[in-house]
Amino acid sequence: MRVAQLALHTSPLATPGGYKTGGMNVYVRELSRQLVQSGIAVDIYTRRVRGDEPKVVELADGTRVIHLDHVSPDMEKDDLVAAAIELADEIAAFAAGEWLTYDVVHSHYWVSGPTGVLLSGRWGVPHVVMFHTLGEVKNRVRAAEMEPRIRIDSERATVAAADRIVCASEHEALLLERLYDARPERISVIPCGVDLERFHPGEREEARAILGLGDEPVVLYVGRIEPLKGVDLLINAFAQVQGAGVLPRLLVLGGDDRSGDAIRELRGLAAALGLADRVTFAGSVPHDELPAYYRLADVCVVPSFYESFGLVAVEALASGTPVVASRVGGLTTTVRDGVTGYLVPWRCPEPFAERIDLLLANAHLRRSMGVAARASMETLGWDGVGEGVRAMYRDALAEQRRRLA
Ligand code: UDP
Repeated sequence: MRVAQLALHTSPLATPGGYKTGGMNVYVRELSRQLVQSGIAVDIYTRRVRGDEPKVVELADGTRVIHLDHVSPDMEKDDLVAAAIELADEIAAFAAGEWLTYDVVHSHYWVSGPTGVLLSGRWGVPHVVMFHTLGEVKNRVRAAEMEPRIRIDSERATVAAADRIVCASEHEALLLERLYDARPERISVIPCGVDLERFHPGEREEARAILGLGDEPVVLYVGRIEPLKGVDLLINAFAQVQGAGVLPRLLVLGGDDRSGDAIRELRGLAAALGLADRVTFAGSVPHDELPAYYRLADVCVVPSFYESFGLVAVEALASGTPVVASRVGGLTTTVRDGVTGYLVPWRCPEPFAERIDLLLANAHLRRSMGVAARASMETLGWDGVGEGVRAMYRDALAEQRRRLA
């Protein structure tokens, strides 16, 4: 089997945690690795990160990343959708030039959907789509300005045409049915995974020493810096955290050159609350360096308005670090309230501060929740995601054969 993955918005080669790179980049990379390991050939069609990368890059596991000439590194999302025909032409021409045929097209995010629909029609193969986030959902949580009409239209058209839709949580599946009229029999719920070998509990003091930290408690945030993530709420909550004895530090990981304004605003907020020297913005950290940060933290906070899944939460839990998270979307199934961390249903600082304080003040609670956290993740490896997606491909192909018979 050969699969064309379309990740037109951002490249799996980019460092996650930047302006537009996050969970989806990690997901496409990990899924491809799993598929290749099981004997499926995978080509990922994407945009260049800097502009000077070669046309084809072969990754260590055998996945090929194919850079599209029609997409510049800074092309806007709307323009990517408007260029769907040219992009489908370029991908089809590349495949034809290599005498390749694909069995499945798998597109990621709303900007890839229309190109996926066109290629699936042209090649006569099933189209699988995963949205990662949905415009209608973002609009409802109102974290920032409204999502453009073109996004909603593109998602609707893709849902109507797709053979299968992958969702990371039951909650997202329900939203797809309610808000996009998706047919339930076309939806597969396959929770995301976590690399259990990379993210595991370990020596906390050692990680602190490597990073030059003292013995102050650390509250950790990891992720993109954008309104949906609620970092401002976390800073407001942190201002109310007492800690037990030594004042804690808030470590914010994520953001890149394009997050400058947002980070300046958050720094301003921290300074206004008298926290300038207790909040550290460390920028984005390469994915393979993150385990040390999760290990050294006393608590990881995920204060998002919404998460369809929320990889940061499962990475922290797998590292044995309790998580305080908003009670939204996929987080409601990954974090067990009162067992592996706390779920906060209110979007105000006090309840977040209260749960963070409870954990900082109680080493025994942190330890027992950390043990439960790791145990709760043992079955959530990426191999399960690979298995689920392979089964779904087989199912979509069998259905297509039945239709054509
Ligand atoms: N991430 C990273 N380095 C950073 C910040 C984030 O590698 O400095 C990764 C993080 O480990 C996680 C992903 O980016 O795998 C974020 O995924 P999540 O699902 O939490 O959020 P999304 O970006 O999908 O909204």
